[in-house]
Amino acid sequence: MILDSFKLTGKVAIVTGCNTGLGQAIAIGLAEAGCHIVGINRSAPSETIHKMEKGGHRFLDLRADLLKQAHIPALIEQAIEEYGHIDILVNNAGIIRRQDAIDFTEQDWDDVMDVNAKTAFFMSQIVAKQFIQQGNGGKIINIASMLSFQGGIRVPSYTASKSALMGLTRAMANEWAVHNINVNSIAPGYMETNNTSALREDAERNEAILARIPAQRWGKPVDVAGPCVFLASEAANYMHGYTIAVDGGWLAR
Ligand code: NAD
Repeated sequence: MILDSFKLTGKVAIVTGCNTGLGQAIAIGLAEAGCHIVGINRSAPSETIHKMEKGGHRFLDLRADLLKQAHIPALIEQAIEEYGHIDILVNNAGIIRRQDAIDFTEQDWDDVMDVNAKTAFFMSQIVAKQFIQQGNGGKIINIASMLSFQGGIRVPSYTASKSALMGLTRAMANEWAVHNINVNSIAPGYMETNNTSALREDAERNEAILARIPAQRWGKPVDVAGPCVFLASEAANYMHGYTIAVDGGWLAR
């Protein structure tokens, strides 16, 4: 039955940055589809834990600052110790810094590139090694952006990092497809999360953004959960290196 290929019963999914926003909605969506979740967060994911408990889902709470890559091997070891295997990685943690390109600092460049691109790559690398060792393939889903496709305004390191992430999605897919590892991305449009609160509070920008979205609304975190479950499932077994926009039609315009 086709719907069975969307089920994720007993799969183990790592989701980075799931204490809030898109990561929380993705973690809950994957859990509802049958996954046990490993959440990697900088601060306590209290609300997510509460929601997981309420839904009767298993959730392993790991803490790390993903600005640095040194903790990554220990995190993966803890996940395997708890669940015995890993099947899905969602590289969701991300940051943004806003400043005119003319005044942009090296710190704002490095921090954003480190979390959004470098950590996502090295997290994927170590999980891909685990997938190869397990011998059953696996799924890697990167959370890209409209700025994987467009230039943006006042966010040069974010644009660089998310454009890099879309390129890396293709590069990793090319090398790891032979191991039945599917590497794909989701590019959310303008979504209601902490990441975009500054934009939504700026009446002029808010109006301009809404006027350009064919769906005429900001996206909700739950809007990315379904596409993520799909990419994490057997239904997406022949998808490699693609970035799906979930954007209310923003890019179609
Ligand atoms: P958010 O700020 O609510 O969530 C970001 C998450 O990343 C949080 O859980 C945060 O704790 C985590 N994080 C950031 N730096 C970290 C670090 N050093 N170590 C560990 N965790 C860290 O924003 P969001 O909108 O939910 O963002 C989730 C992802 O979606 C990001 O990659 C973001 O770039 C991307 N995205 C968001 C939008 C949007 O409109 N909101 C659009 C496109 C892409």
